[in-house]
Amino acid sequence: MRHIHPDDRSKTVRYLRNQIKCGELNFRKDLRILRDDDYVWSEVIAKIALDDEGRLRKLAGIIIDIPERKEKEEKLTREATLDPLTGIANRGSFDSRFMQMKQSLEDEGIAFSLLLLDIDYFKKVNDTWGHGVGDQALKHVTQIMQNTLREGDFVARVGGEEFAMLLHCDAAETADRIAERIRCNVEGSPLVTSEGTISLTISIGIFNASRGIAGQFCETMLSKADEALYEAKSTGRNKVVSY
Ligand code: GH3
Ligand code: MG
Ligand code: MG
Repeated sequence: MRHIHPDDRSKTVRYLRNQIKCGELNFRKDLRILRDDDYVWSEVIAKIALDDEGRLRKLAGIIIDIPERKEKEEKLTREATLDPLTGIANRGSFDSRFMQMKQSLEDEGIAFSLLLLDIDYFKKVNDTWGHGVGDQALKHVTQIMQNTLREGDFVARVGGEEFAMLLHCDAAETADRIAERIRCNVEGSPLVTSEGTISLTISIGIFNASRGIAGQFCETMLSKADEALYEAKSTGRNKVVSY
């Protein structure tokens, strides 16, 4: 155990327990194993040997270094889950996180807020300043969201100039207040480029998902947040609206 990376130990124990319980005495797992002073990604393939009472006696097998393979896997995972322009989660990651949050609301009553953010008149930014500056604006707004959100909150780019956030609920820091702070920070921090200084605003639609509404709105939360966003757009933009 001392040779296994601390973050890999509990999953190793779980895996071993499960294999032994099922009478499956093969061991095959990717683990970080201590080599000299460093943990190296390794594939461990071994036989599980038990004593007469069915307790673990030893693992006997081989350890293969796989740092390159692991690096490739991690690169593929990054490419599949992150948006290349802004470096934040992409649509696919949002979908799976959203599903998890809905599940824990249903199972454990853990409330959350769903926020949809859309940059106002973004087409005009592209048309006036060019696509490259448009891209800078997307990164700029991303940075502001990241600086304003708290640890554990989640933000993804779900469309061209559209972002979604999943916030855990907190009585003091309601989603409305956080959204309002993001709106204010975007309005108050124009994008400075070599071509000039560009004022940006955003609109946000919010849907607060709590236990009482879980069943009723489970399938339609996204469209409810979108309705709120549409309301913000159609009543002047640069606004936060809660459904
Ligand atoms: P509204 O205030 O109603 O949201 O208007 P809008 O102009 O922001 O919305 P619209 O949907 O008309 O335009 C969105 C624009 O976003 C159009 C598209 O060219 C641009 N866009 C989408 N993805 C990207 C991108 O990756 N980079 C850049 N620079 N522009 C993008
Ligand atoms: Mg849009
Ligand atoms: Mg827009």
